[in-house]
Amino acid sequence: MLPRRVRLGYQTIPVEVMPIEGANGVYHSSPPKIIIHPDQPTREEMNSLIHELLHAVWDHFNLPDENEEHCVTSLANGVTELLCRNPKLREYLCQSSGD
Ligand SMILES: [Zn+2]
Repeated sequence: MLPRRVRLGYQTIPVEVMPIEGANGVYHSSPPKIIIHPDQPTREEMNSLIHELLHAVWDHFNLPDENEEHCVTSLANGVTELLCRNPKLREYLCQSSGD
């Protein structure tokens, strides 16, 4: 189940599920909000959430605008694959992440 909110730095970013035309997800920076398109297969939904979270990270840490979409897409695809194919990695990350 998708988290209803995610904390990043001083922000709490709401995560909402609602239909989006032409995208699986979207990140709004001000005020921060992530919207995920409903009824995606689990792995695609996970990839969409990670993708939008990386946009939030990109924004929060003031990374340069150029190549943002390309970098976020590649990183989200890579992180999604790592998490899906490595259950022991997921377990380690969950156990090591504190709250
Ligand atoms: Zn994007």
